[in-house]
Amino acid sequence: MKISGKAKIAGVIGNPIDHSLSPKLHNYWLEKYEIDGAYIPISVEKENFSEVFKALPKMGFIGVNITVPYKVDAYNMVDEVSKTAKKIGAVNMVIFDKKTGASYGTNTDAYGFLLNIEKKYEGLTQKGPVVVYGAGGAARAVCAGLVEANAPEIRLVNRTQEKALMIKDELNSDNIKVESWAKRSFALKNAKLVVNTTSVGMKKGEELPIDFTDLAPDAVVTDIIYNPLKTKFIRRAGARGNRTIDGLGMLLYQAQPAFKAWFDKQPEVNDELRNYILKS
Ligand code: NAP
Repeated sequence: MKISGKAKIAGVIGNPIDHSLSPKLHNYWLEKYEIDGAYIPISVEKENFSEVFKALPKMGFIGVNITVPYKVDAYNMVDEVSKTAKKIGAVNMVIFDKKTGASYGTNTDAYGFLLNIEKKYEGLTQKGPVVVYGAGGAARAVCAGLVEANAPEIRLVNRTQEKALMIKDELNSDNIKVESWAKRSFALKNAKLVVNTTSVGMKKGEELPIDFTDLAPDAVVTDIIYNPLKTKFIRRAGARGNRTIDGLGMLLYQAQPAFKAWFDKQPEVNDELRNYILKS
């Protein structure tokens, strides 16, 4: 790795941060493209976030990713916010102005989600109803992406229905239809794409209680969880013949615009990168 005194420094802030794959990913690209730079993990306690965030441009950082639990804090702190981040109400990527230190925050999760689907099945999001399970931070980004992609009908289903109604309200789209948790399996009827954005499936043996009887054989099922890579949700759908997409691609694609903005190089997402990250 090439790091001189002029190296461009970026990183990721969160807590905990040791599970983050972003340092591995960005440093892989820095090495591949022989860029004089580094990407470091920064673990910060809640009470220190604001102070640390403000100090970053003074320390020479060109930008940072923001991860759990600081995406909303960062949204409230940046000097300027992108249209996408405004819709989502959260920032996952920040660029610092070299001269003034002013911060620009955006959100690349919606981009990452859409590209992960579109690279495999072009036009799928416009083909018919999309079912989205969950209404947390990730669901907000996924729904914003689907609205932007003109998905004709987004059936949003969450255990706590009020949170789904809030997303519909904030994204202000008639294409979002909120369904009750009781009707979560019924919502699958004639869906073309099904997305799990809940955190159910991260722990071993955990499974989203959805009955796939009404799921059409041509529907594509995706889970944005990438650890484990194959959740029970994905495995169950695959076992009955449905096509599936795992969540790792979303993580890789959401990092592309950040790397390009900071290091001025469009990095490639390919199988070699996927395998490298999977081995880590
Ligand atoms: P979050 O804000 O905490 O939301 C969690 C969601 O899961 C809520 O909708 C919650 O429902 C639901 N949920 C939790 N336990 C449940 C249960 N037992 N039964 C039914 N629903 C349940 O989390 P998040 O930030 O949206 O992240 C969600 C997942 O997405 C995480 O696994 C994260 O790793 C993944 N993610 C992946 C990427 C990627 O790049 N691939 C990016 C972002 C996030 P209630 O509202 O009813 O509590």
